[in-house]
Amino acid sequence: MAKQYAVIGLGRFGSSVAARLYESGQEVLGVDVNMERVEDSNEFVTHAVIADSTDPESLKAIGIRNFDTVIVAIGNDIQASILSVLLLKELGVKKVIAKALNKLHGQVLEKVGADWVIFPERDMGIRVAHQLLSPNVLNFIEISKNYSVEEVRATEKMKDKTLRELDIRAKYNLSVIAIRKDHELTISPPPDKIIDEGDVLVVIGENRDLERFANLS
Ligand code: ADP
Repeated sequence: MAKQYAVIGLGRFGSSVAARLYESGQEVLGVDVNMERVEDSNEFVTHAVIADSTDPESLKAIGIRNFDTVIVAIGNDIQASILSVLLLKELGVKKVIAKALNKLHGQVLEKVGADWVIFPERDMGIRVAHQLLSPNVLNFIEISKNYSVEEVRATEKMKDKTLRELDIRAKYNLSVIAIRKDHELTISPPPDKIIDEGDVLVVIGENRDLERFANLS
């Protein structure tokens, strides 16, 4: 069933969140104080309205309480971002996600009740550095501070070997949870599974072990 999302602030960040949700069939309300931004968003949201999210009456008028999740994607106006999160939580919105510009902003957003604070620039910077350090890593998800799931492109050294021969669990303390070949996915691959060039291994474990493994070439 489609969920109802509201995205407040239709800049680059807010627009891409809204567009992606809309593409996957969710109901998305776009909100911005700027009329042009609201008009331009018509292609990638279900509805769009002009409203100031620092005004409680405007938030009530658009029925913001009825949305499952509200994303506060206000750019540089830290005061407006904090005030909006505070009002949304006071009005009873269950899940409020907010973008922070820096650490202090993030801390304040959490204090006023944000359920999830995102630091787009910091997180993208980490991703870029990660990619540079381990070029074979195509994608990763941080599970906790020290543990991740990574998609690792099979290196020359892994080619034509079975999982058993590579002995990934004993040597690297990692588990291979799936292997992807083009669009085909083998979940929980058996130990005699042979790795081909171009295969992508989905591996879970501690970050330093993952780094060692991804650089096995
Ligand atoms: P980005 O870095 O994601 O491009 P911007 O600063 O360009 O961010 O965009 C933030 C958007 O948030 C702007 O379109 C701005 O009009 C909108 N905005 C700022 N304050 C409010 C507010 N109080 N209520 C609704 N929208 C707001």
